[in-house]
Amino acid sequence: MHVPFIDLAAQFAEIDSEIRSAIDRVFASSQFSSGPAVEEFESSFAKYCESEHCVAVSSGTAALEILLRAYGIGPGDEVILPANTFVAAAEAIALVGARPVFVDVCADTAQVDAKQLESALTSNTKAITIVHLYGQPGEIAPILESANRRGIVVIEDGSQAHGARYKGRRVGNLTAAAAFSFYPTKNLGAYGEAGCITTNDPDIAKQARMLRDHGSGRKKYHDLIGRNDRMDEIQGAVLNVKLSHLDRWNQQRREIADMYRSALSPHADIRPFLKVPDCESVYHLFVVRVPMRDRIREVLFANGIQTGIHYPIPLHLQPAFQYLGHGEGDFPVSELLAGEILSLPFYPQMPSDQIQFVVSTLSETVDQLSRNR
Ligand SMILES: *Cc1c(COP(=O)(O)O)cnc(C)c1O
Repeated sequence: MHVPFIDLAAQFAEIDSEIRSAIDRVFASSQFSSGPAVEEFESSFAKYCESEHCVAVSSGTAALEILLRAYGIGPGDEVILPANTFVAAAEAIALVGARPVFVDVCADTAQVDAKQLESALTSNTKAITIVHLYGQPGEIAPILESANRRGIVVIEDGSQAHGARYKGRRVGNLTAAAAFSFYPTKNLGAYGEAGCITTNDPDIAKQARMLRDHGSGRKKYHDLIGRNDRMDEIQGAVLNVKLSHLDRWNQQRREIADMYRSALSPHADIRPFLKVPDCESVYHLFVVRVPMRDRIREVLFANGIQTGIHYPIPLHLQPAFQYLGHGEGDFPVSELLAGEILSLPFYPQMPSDQIQFVVSTLSETVDQLSRNR
């Protein structure tokens, strides 16, 4: 049996005709940038996130950078983020001229450790980027409380968590503002590059709209030095179609995650991350910790099962961030997890015989390798 890590073609097969007619309408109007499809998406996604404003942009990375600029963050400022996330959040901080300050995470949730975050705060801390890694918000109440007390802005990176909830509230409306990616493999994915910002703050939304469009708020005037980070119409049209299916796909993800959890629970050596109380995850990925991860991955691959690692190198050990002066041992939990995590094949349309095959192959492999240890 061949088990792909993700199958976007299976998803497209469900919405083929809807997508084609939405894209045809863009061709017919021949308005390819900043048109009605993008506007419709902004208002639908704001509503979906229970947020006042949505500003569509060209990628999740652009969303993160524009948000930091909208909050006036730049040289001399420090921005805190987890050491074990995708590189974009750290890039955005460095690109606005601020200093990325990494913090370690909890081993059983992979989410930022609020106590460690507290000790990373300095008088230069201007913002905290929290990342809802793998689709699950962490326990963020203590972080928000501490940040609010000090006047530090908290930004969500919701790129893996479209539709997730924390204490009943949607990601995208948990903090001052959020950045989302619609990279094709995300829970809500475009057919190309796209992203957005959500916020309840009208001034931040206005700044973000200007920054994404050459710093222009009124025709022919450029009040700020901005960028070209608009979302294109074809992506807006695709996202409008896909947003209407998102809750169903997220529900299918939760059901598959529950199947994996219960089927793997007899195996003490295969450890999924814990559910955080009061959180509704949307399982962007299903990640387990296993001993001898690289060997297990090879055996799974030889059996036709594709897996991933998110992420194999913590950010403080990436060559691009060497200038920060970190070394091995600085964020021990992130480093430990990087050597143990394995992302299992996972997508809403995944058939149950594939899930069972992954579970039995993984369980047998772990048993066999630990017997030979
Ligand atoms: C995908 C992703 C991003 C980057 O988004 P792009 O649209 O690829 O620029 C940022 N943060 C996280 C957590 C992501 O998963």
